[in-house]
Amino acid sequence: MYKSNMYDPFVENQIPFNQPSTDSYWSANTQPITTTTLDTDIQTDVLIVGAGYTGLSCAIELAKAGIKNITVIDANQIGWGCSSRNAGFVLPGSGRLSYKELESRFGTAQTLKLHDQFISAIDLLETRLSSLPGNADKTEQGYLKLAHSKSWFEKLNSSAAYLQSNFNYDVEVITKSDFNKNFVNHQHVYGAIRYKNGFGLNPLKLVNHYAQLALDLGVNIYTHSPANEITKSGNNTHHVITPTGSIKTNKLVIATNGYTPKSLNTPLNGKVLPVLTSVIVTRPLTQSEIEQSNFKTHQVMMDTRELKYYYRLLPDNRILFGGRSAITGKAASNPKYQQRLLQELQSSFVGLDTVTIDHGWSGWISVAFDQMPHIYKTEDDIFYATGYCGSGVSFSAWAGKQLADLISEQEASSPLMTELPSFPFAPFRRMGQRFFYQYGRLKDWAQ
Ligand SMILES: Cc1cc2nc3c(=O)[nH]c(=O)nc-3n(C[C@H](O)[C@H](O)[C@H](O)COP(=O)(O)OP(=O)(O)OC[C@H]3O[C@@H](n4cnc5c(N)ncnc54)[C@H](O)[C@@H]3O)c2cc1C
Repeated sequence: MYKSNMYDPFVENQIPFNQPSTDSYWSANTQPITTTTLDTDIQTDVLIVGAGYTGLSCAIELAKAGIKNITVIDANQIGWGCSSRNAGFVLPGSGRLSYKELESRFGTAQTLKLHDQFISAIDLLETRLSSLPGNADKTEQGYLKLAHSKSWFEKLNSSAAYLQSNFNYDVEVITKSDFNKNFVNHQHVYGAIRYKNGFGLNPLKLVNHYAQLALDLGVNIYTHSPANEITKSGNNTHHVITPTGSIKTNKLVIATNGYTPKSLNTPLNGKVLPVLTSVIVTRPLTQSEIEQSNFKTHQVMMDTRELKYYYRLLPDNRILFGGRSAITGKAASNPKYQQRLLQELQSSFVGLDTVTIDHGWSGWISVAFDQMPHIYKTEDDIFYATGYCGSGVSFSAWAGKQLADLISEQEASSPLMTELPSFPFAPFRRMGQRFFYQYGRLKDWAQ
């Protein structure tokens, strides 16, 4: 019916390997770094499963801490999961909760600590970017959160005041008319706030850079080498079996995030929900379209809807526009999801009625039951970081470093260092997701 079924971690027991790169705007211009496939039996001090930002960030920090024998494996190319195909928004935060919700869950002191960690995540990413010529096409600074209703603009206003007084965090408030005049003429926006430390980048260039940094520090990376089986023997040795090799290790890092296959024996089992999000990239806008829509910014933007849309003008004047997608891998290539994004784009901006889609793709983000990331070490010396809820570009840098600190027994602490909670009725997670989408649609319509 549709092009082909997409890998679906919720239903498939193993992740497919030897897959081509995602057909995306990023991969049309940049190739992922290639490495060899594991074809023998090895022993390693630390094994990291998953060569995305989290796994590679952990590897970089471990190597910097002087640990010698570090191995990273991925089922496909470097960054094949989200890290090569995201929208490239560097955001000051992670998870889905607002600061007020964080404060009521964690208390003021811990939320302050979390805020510092969100900012440190961006700083760490920027430090790494500074050694990459071209800085992965880093854009001008600014993350614009757009009110999709009047009442949401009031909420954004009060949240800016709250961030200033409680966290000394300076967030700019922008009225509807200033937004339309100075950023873009948007038909559905009632005002915005601007976080000064967000920005956009090319995600594939970023993950390639992480891989190169890790390789330069002596990390062994094997691609097209899926962990198909994980077992443990009495003395805390983990055995990982790939199609053409095997690995023994005492310290195992699970950095497979939303791509973790259903039956892999990991502590993530039944505790994350892989959720699809889709992105389209248009043809480059003409000069007249830029003028009509008054697109004056390359800053990254996301609205306040429950079912959010996110977008940015790319350096070559195309619009990247993303949002919710299908629920199953089987339905992912149904063209209606890309068409829905295009319709929303065209109704948001003036003069873009004839704009067309040049690229479109989807990927699995991971959502934990409590909608927050978790960075954790189990009693068996299995380490994981996951649950960024679609905001992992910067936070994964920090989470990877925290994992490395836990492994090398450095001081590490975060309000997020708790075990992933189980989903009640885990097999019915998708039913809950369908319900949430219905509820989100109604809520967005009502506000
Ligand atoms: C379309 C899209 C847009 C997004 N936009 C943004 C954004 O703008 N800003 C933002 O902050 N976040 C965004 N995200 C989320 C962000 O990309 C992720 O949070 C981040 O990349 C997570 O990195 P990771 O290394 O933890 O996981 P991933 O990059 O998903 O890496 C997991 C890796 O594990 C591998 N793997 C899985 N199972 C196995 C196995 N058994 N054996 C070996 N390897 C295995 C996979 O092949 C994969 O490469 C977006 C995600 C998508 C899909």
